[in-house]
Amino acid sequence: MFTISQDSKYSSKPRVVIIGGGFGGLSLAKALKKAPVEVLMLDKHNYHTFQPLLYQVAIGAIAADSIAFPIRRIFTKYANFSFNMAEVEKINPENNTLTTTIGEICYDYLVIATGSDTNFLGKTEIEHFAMPMKNIPEALNIRSLVMQNLETALVTADMREKFALMTFVVVGGGPTGVELSGALAEMRHMILEKDYHGLSKYDLRVYLVEGKDRLLGTMSPQASEKAKEVLTKGGVTIYNSAHVESYDGFYLTIDNGKTIKTRNVLWAAGVKGEMPEGMPAEVVGKGNRLYVDEINRVKGYNNIFAIGDVAGMITPETPNGHPGVAPAAIQQGEHLGENLVHLIKGEPTTPFKYHDKGSLATIGRNQAVADLGKIHLSGFLGWLLWGVVHLMSLAGFSNKGIVFFSWAINYFTKNSDNRLVVRYFNIETRETASDSK
Ligand SMILES: Cc1cc2nc3c(=O)[nH]c(=O)nc-3n(C[C@H](O)[C@H](O)[C@H](O)COP(=O)(O)OP(=O)(O)OC[C@H]3O[C@@H](n4cnc5c(N)ncnc54)[C@H](O)[C@@H]3O)c2cc1C
Repeated sequence: MFTISQDSKYSSKPRVVIIGGGFGGLSLAKALKKAPVEVLMLDKHNYHTFQPLLYQVAIGAIAADSIAFPIRRIFTKYANFSFNMAEVEKINPENNTLTTTIGEICYDYLVIATGSDTNFLGKTEIEHFAMPMKNIPEALNIRSLVMQNLETALVTADMREKFALMTFVVVGGGPTGVELSGALAEMRHMILEKDYHGLSKYDLRVYLVEGKDRLLGTMSPQASEKAKEVLTKGGVTIYNSAHVESYDGFYLTIDNGKTIKTRNVLWAAGVKGEMPEGMPAEVVGKGNRLYVDEINRVKGYNNIFAIGDVAGMITPETPNGHPGVAPAAIQQGEHLGENLVHLIKGEPTTPFKYHDKGSLATIGRNQAVADLGKIHLSGFLGWLLWGVVHLMSLAGFSNKGIVFFSWAINYFTKNSDNRLVVRYFNIETRETASDSK
C-alpha cells in the first residue's frame, strides 16, 4: 500500500480527483484540459464502457472489446491528467482523503461520478438468479448463459427442462428491456433454426414484463405503441402493469397471476446510484442519489461534487432529478468543468440547465423509435438515426469501424459471429471460468 499525496509534479495546483471514468467523468476531465488544476481520475476498470450497446454484446451481435476504450488512451495529450486503476472504498470528507485499493489519496476537490448499479428492489433471491447488465463482464455472463442454455436444450431429454432453457424473460420495459427482447426475438427468427439444427423457433419464447401500463415509459405514447406493435409481431409476449414477485432459478412468478418456467431471467428493471462508503445518510436521497445544488455540489460540502447517474439535482423543474442518461452526465461534467475554474478563481458560478436533445430506442432489424421534440420517427428512418448516433458516440475510431463492419455483416448475413462461450458462467455459484467445465 502506498499514499498518493500532494507531492506530484503538479503539486502547486489544486488537485481535482474524479471517481469514475464514465460519461460524466470523461466529459469533466476534458473540460478541465486547460484549467489550472491537476486532474487525477480513478476507476476500478482501466477502460470506459459505452453502456448503450451492452445489450448487443449480451446477445453476441458485437464483440465486447468494441464498446470499451482505454481511459489512458483518451487523455494521452492532456498534460494535467493522470489515471490510476483503483476502486474507491471509502470517502473521508473530514480529512479530504479517499481510501482506495491502491492506498490513501488526497484531494482538494472531489467529484463523484460513479454512475449507478442494478436495483433488485431488495429481492435477494431474484438477485441471485437473475442476470443484470450494467457492465461488460455482466453482458458477457448473459451471452454465456444464453448460449450455454441453447446448447443444453439441444441435448436434454427432459422436455420441461428444455422449454425452461429456451424461455427468456426480460424484466423492465424501458429502452434496455425493449432492445434486449427485440434482439432475442430477432435471434429466434433469423438464427435459431439456421445454427441450432434440432431446435424449433416455436419452442423459444420471449416474455417482457413491465410494471407501468406502457413500454418505454419515458418516451412518447407513439413510441410506446410502436414498440409494443413491433415486439408483439416478433412473437414477444408483453405483460404490462405487472411486477415480478419471485424467481428461484426455475419458476418466475408475476403479480398478474402468471408463473413462467424459465432458466433465463434478464433484469433491466431499474438502477440505483452507486457510491463508495463515507457520505452521510442525510445527503443520500431517492434512488440512492447524492443531493446536489445547481452547480452539482453535494449539499453541505464546499469541495465535494457529484455528476451523472449518482447525482440528484432536485429543482422545481426536476423533482426527481435529471434522467439517468448519458447526455445528462456529459452535460453536467462539461458544466462543472467551467464552474470549478470559476470557483478556483473566485468568480461567480452559473447554474446547470439540462438540454434534452431527444430519446432513441431500437426494437429490432429496421425498427427503432425516436422522439426529437415534437418530431416522432419510427421504422427504418428511426433505425438509421439510432445507428448513426450510437456509432458517432462510441469512443475510438477503431471501435467505430469494428462496430460498423459487425453491423453490416450481421445485416447482410442475418447472423452474427460473436455468439461465443469463452468464459463458462455458472448460475448457481455465479462464477465464470475461462475453460468450459
Ligand atoms: C444497458 C444500458 C443501456 C443504456 N442505454 C442508454 C442509451 O441508449 N442512451 C443513454 O443516454 N443512456 C443509456 N444508458 C444510461 C447511461 O449509460 C448512463 O446514464 C451513463 O453511463 C451515466 O454516466 P455516469 O458517468 O454517471 O456513470 P457511468 O458511465 O456508469 O460511469 C461510472 C464509472 O464509475 C466507475 N466506478 C463506480 N464505482 C467506483 C468506485 N467505487 N471506484 C472506482 N470507480 C468506480 C465505474 O467503473 C464506471 O466506469 C444505459 C445504461 C445501461 C446500463
